[in-house]
Amino acid sequence: MVSVYVFNREGRLVGPVQSPKVVKTDAEWQKQLTPKQYEIARAKGTEPAFCGLLLNNKEAGVYSCICCGLPLFSSDSKFHSGTGWPSFFQPIARENVVEQVDKSHGMVRTEVLCARCGGHLGHVFEDGPKPTGLRFCLNSESIKFTPATDLAQLADPAAEATAPKQTASAVFAGGCFWCTEAVFEDLKGVMSVESGYSGGTAETAKYKIVCTGVTGHAEAIRITYDPSIISYDQLLDVFFAAHDPTQLNGQGADIGTQYRSAIFYADEKQKEAAERKIRDLTQSHAYPKPIVTTLEPLRAFYPAEDYHQDYAELHPEQPYIACHALPNAAKVRERFAGLYKK
Ligand SMILES: [Zn+2]
Repeated sequence: MVSVYVFNREGRLVGPVQSPKVVKTDAEWQKQLTPKQYEIARAKGTEPAFCGLLLNNKEAGVYSCICCGLPLFSSDSKFHSGTGWPSFFQPIARENVVEQVDKSHGMVRTEVLCARCGGHLGHVFEDGPKPTGLRFCLNSESIKFTPATDLAQLADPAAEATAPKQTASAVFAGGCFWCTEAVFEDLKGVMSVESGYSGGTAETAKYKIVCTGVTGHAEAIRITYDPSIISYDQLLDVFFAAHDPTQLNGQGADIGTQYRSAIFYADEKQKEAAERKIRDLTQSHAYPKPIVTTLEPLRAFYPAEDYHQDYAELHPEQPYIACHALPNAAKVRERFAGLYKK
């Protein structure tokens, strides 16, 4: 691995990030590059002075490695040196180029190479302008120019690791939270699932009080997920498949308003998505009876006592889990296999 700066999908330079070294055989490079590019970038050749296509390029943008695409120099540091080769006073990031002593042709020079693939770029001399006093003397054939308006095209997979993960959350109630929690664990894009209570007040958000069925609370789960991987709509599909939305104030033998089927929407978008889903399921006669799932504005979610968290996972032998929660979760996993991690 090398530690380098790369462009992200927004066309912004980010780093340092870890990127694997690019290693290829000569035959592979020959296949990828033109003969001229290969001769210079891989066989350490030098193009004739005043012939390079990028020598007089004055456009704003970035020069990247012809071999591996690593950004190397910015137009901001390009200057007219009069030597006949594109010249820069500094690289786009110190990490992106490496230097090594070159004693070829009876001279002692400092060769400049791409840090990621070892591609030969040119040499660096100490007769450059301020502020560095350096002159990076490059071959046009070793670099590729991308205009400043198109930098997103240089987006590198290594930048993804630095992108802050998007998170969103969904709160559903579909009967006993041990069961619903088990269904949503292991979905791709789901970061966490918590069991808890929603619909009532903070004072009554305790298991023993919620069991009385008069607190307004429902046993609920809060799903934290990455909406770029799984959508709220897909979570709704899993939710409806995971329980019986036609049973009023209960699930199977669990009876009481605390076991009601409910969607606690956080905003208008979630509310509309839930309404649309119920309409679609109703119109397609997905259930023999009407859907009674309530749509309730999310005021708060109160995480349940620790011993309720990951209950099915931690107590697979418990009869209720073994006979009910796990078979139900398995059924949903089978139906939506593509949405689950392997
Ligand atoms: Zn390279």
